[in-house]
Amino acid sequence: MRAVLVINAGSSSVKYQLLDPVTGQSHARGLIERIGLPTGAVHHTVDGVRHEQQLPVPDHEAAMHLLTRAFTQHGPDLSQVDLAAVGHRVVHGGADFADPVEVTPAVLATIERLVPLAPLHNPGNLDGITAAREAFPDVPQVAVFDTAFHQTMPEAAATYAVPKVWREQHRVRRYGFHGTSHAYVSRRVAELLGRPLEELRTVVLHLGNGASATAVEAGRSVDTSMGLTPLEGLVMGTRAGDLDPGLAGHLARVASMSMDDYDQALSKESGLLGLTGSADMREVMARRDEGDPDAELAFQVVVHRLLRYVGGFTAVLGGLDALVFTAGIGENDPRVRAAVVDRLAFLGVELDHAANEAAVRGVEGRISTPGSHVEVWVVPTNEELEIARQAAAVVEA
Ligand code: ADP
Repeated sequence: MRAVLVINAGSSSVKYQLLDPVTGQSHARGLIERIGLPTGAVHHTVDGVRHEQQLPVPDHEAAMHLLTRAFTQHGPDLSQVDLAAVGHRVVHGGADFADPVEVTPAVLATIERLVPLAPLHNPGNLDGITAAREAFPDVPQVAVFDTAFHQTMPEAAATYAVPKVWREQHRVRRYGFHGTSHAYVSRRVAELLGRPLEELRTVVLHLGNGASATAVEAGRSVDTSMGLTPLEGLVMGTRAGDLDPGLAGHLARVASMSMDDYDQALSKESGLLGLTGSADMREVMARRDEGDPDAELAFQVVVHRLLRYVGGFTAVLGGLDALVFTAGIGENDPRVRAAVVDRLAFLGVELDHAANEAAVRGVEGRISTPGSHVEVWVVPTNEELEIARQAAAVVEA
């Protein structure tokens, strides 16, 4: 059995999945959580059975040891697997990585150099890679970057109109994130439509806890809603998305707010959480059903922001062939989809309301009518499979 082990290492958790990059079959998946805290846990799921063990996990090296032990105890036996690669999700590849790469000391040094651009993510990613190199010394390690897909953005879309010294010395520009998801979903919808990627103009809405929109032309990202950091753009679970850049100065003056507090509030206390007290869209929608005005407003703000991006990206693309919803909210919430799509009637988009209501999580499906001028789809994202495929392609090249 040939497989890729995909690792998504954060500062306090390691998610992993063993899968076949060709068929997409998942052989096992797991999560090691609360690394570095007094109580940790290992969850390993194989053949639909979830094995769980509570124990402290002091660091990423220990996590990798527990990962290999989970495979030994519960299967599949890694010594029987032809492990083509370990594929690592790395959040920020800056302008240095437009493609996945095999990890070398030079690559590690570059990812380290990018830490100032992603201080919350790249260090955990690096710890995961370092530990995996020790645990699997004979297997190629491949880094797959969340930003890479967006390196095709034209300069006009990637450039902030800020002083030259910021742009040149501090690498201030728009990078974009969720690239593996946008790459997977935009390619998949072309397959589902049976049309060449080259002739499609697609907007992908990845709506999870983090959310982003991407304009894809001929398979290449030409604009995306996230920027230098994953804070720009859509309203998210706890992130504000777009703001007036004057807000920082305003709060510094009227509330003596520090930059750290400002950063913290915009990434952890804003978005749905800031508007309603809950970061979870299910809860927000349940409260909206009960007539809660904050939940109603939050829903309207989310939809309004989505419309601005879909409309703007349609103009950037010079038209729209496909609109695709993915991730937790995109795959599950018919009302968000309907609110967005119904407002796009001026583009000749027509929602099939029954199909929209019937769409179920994890299942691909068209939710536009046969007469709609734009194909509207729900396509479940599969970032692990995309990472596995990209990692396998690097190794085979
Ligand atoms: P992450 O970005 O952490 O991977 P997900 O893609 O799982 O997150 O998306 C999480 C979001 O999806 C949450 O806001 C959650 O409330 C929302 N969600 C999940 N199921 C539903 C549902 N049935 N209706 C509305 N929102 C849902």
